[in-house]
Amino acid sequence: MAEGGHYDIVILGGGSGGYACALRAAEFGKRVALIEKDKVGGTCLHRGCIPTKALLHAAEVADSSRESAKFGVRTAFEGIEMPAVLSYQQGVVERLWKGLQSTLASRKIDMIYGDGRLTSPTSVAVNGAVYTGDHVVLATGSEPRSLPGLTLDGVRVISSDDALRLDRVPSSVIILGGGVIGVEFASVWRSFGADVTIVEMAPQLLPLEDEASAKVLQRVFRRRGIGFELGAPFQSVNYTDSGVQVTLGTGKQLEAEVLLVAVGRGPVSAGLGYEENGVTITRGFVDVDPLCRTKVPTISAVGDLINIPEIAHPQLAHVGFAEGILVAERLGGLDVRPIDYDGVPRITYSDPEVASVGISSAQAAERGINVVEVNYPLGGNGKSVILGTQGQAKVIAEAPSVPGGQPGRVLGVHLVGSRVGELIAEAQLIVNWDAEPDDVAALIHPHPTQSEIIGEANLALAGKPLHFHA
Ligand SMILES: Cc1cc2nc3c(=O)[nH]c(=O)nc-3n(C[C@H](O)[C@H](O)[C@H](O)COP(=O)(O)OP(=O)(O)OC[C@H]3O[C@@H](n4cnc5c(N)ncnc54)[C@H](O)[C@@H]3O)c2cc1C
Repeated sequence: MAEGGHYDIVILGGGSGGYACALRAAEFGKRVALIEKDKVGGTCLHRGCIPTKALLHAAEVADSSRESAKFGVRTAFEGIEMPAVLSYQQGVVERLWKGLQSTLASRKIDMIYGDGRLTSPTSVAVNGAVYTGDHVVLATGSEPRSLPGLTLDGVRVISSDDALRLDRVPSSVIILGGGVIGVEFASVWRSFGADVTIVEMAPQLLPLEDEASAKVLQRVFRRRGIGFELGAPFQSVNYTDSGVQVTLGTGKQLEAEVLLVAVGRGPVSAGLGYEENGVTITRGFVDVDPLCRTKVPTISAVGDLINIPEIAHPQLAHVGFAEGILVAERLGGLDVRPIDYDGVPRITYSDPEVASVGISSAQAAERGINVVEVNYPLGGNGKSVILGTQGQAKVIAEAPSVPGGQPGRVLGVHLVGSRVGELIAEAQLIVNWDAEPDDVAALIHPHPTQSEIIGEANLALAGKPLHFHA
């Protein structure tokens, strides 16, 4: 371990944003110190993306074995052995963690383990040693937050961190918050056999997704036996003999063994010396401009920690990667451009998956953009019928500029159904490269794949529908 010293860049926080910045900066020949108080890889690798997706895969296996008779395959579903699920999940995490550590080592990045604190615009103190840098990057990320008066006890009232460690399947769960994290845990626990109810204050699950996608998700969740209370603010929670009783603002009371609080994530910035050294903060988030620069010329910030005025900043691992890379390239002397946050793909990995890129119909209306749109149902797609999944592909494009003309750029793609997350990569190229439906219609999609739904929706928008009836 290094013992203090001077670097080109000192990065505080070794999660997605911090380590991506370190890796890219090293490619420019920069000397980099990466300071981490826990495990490199951060939330995504240890408490977020990877462990939840391992659980979701185990859930899919459970559903497949339970439903195998539908496909003429005889199996017996005997139950979920949670310690074994956790050991599979941990195996995946450990393997990726090892890989990440060796990648960082191969790029000659100095890892410094310990609790860091910004002590000047160019220095971070860790374990009594001081690491100075020509530039400092703040990447301390986020942590689960709760609501006023709602205390997480880690046993009956739990966060997503606690949920990932739970070594049993609770018989019943109330999930406070119908955003991505709440919806993913609902999907997992239902597949594992729990009774699940989601409580969401907004009028739809996944409030940031297009209303049409949320409607399909809600329909499928209802069919799966996942309950939800929408437009229902949380009021209070009491302990009962067997768990918790939650009272909603509507007066309704719900009981369950466990309450998962998934109401969002707050920044990790308190007590770290940020404001004392001139960095401005909004509700705990570090204010940056679209190039991730704070008010202090020697300090940048990336990832879940940041606030960019006028931008709804998504807390996603790939956004952290992109911002870390952007900062490294800026410091490496490249001419960088701000990230287009509308163009960032978003996926909820529940069953069914919900994936999107670009703007929703509601956002188009708010921005006064005239659009045309198509909803292509998965029922018309051979591979989706083979898989037995339901859902749709909604594509939104600029309305034709002349009557009877072709639509303009594709502005949004919104998908729901099993495995559609993998399709959003094509949708992201379409949206970010300003393709028009007619351009996409000219591309041949392989048959039978689910990717055909992207082709079909664009064919329909371009006025040449194939397997589609309006
Ligand atoms: C349950 C769950 C599921 C998720 N699923 C997905 C998903 O599927 N896809 C997706 O894109 N995103 C997902 N996310 C979000 C994703 O994990 C975050 O957006 C991403 O991890 C943010 O990266 P970051 O580098 O900003 O912060 P973090 O990953 O939180 O990293 C910050 C790091 O800084 C360290 N640190 C903090 N303070 C200090 C200090 N004082 N000194 C030293 N080190 C410090 C922390 O230990 C941590 O390692 C999920 C999150 C959760 C909670």
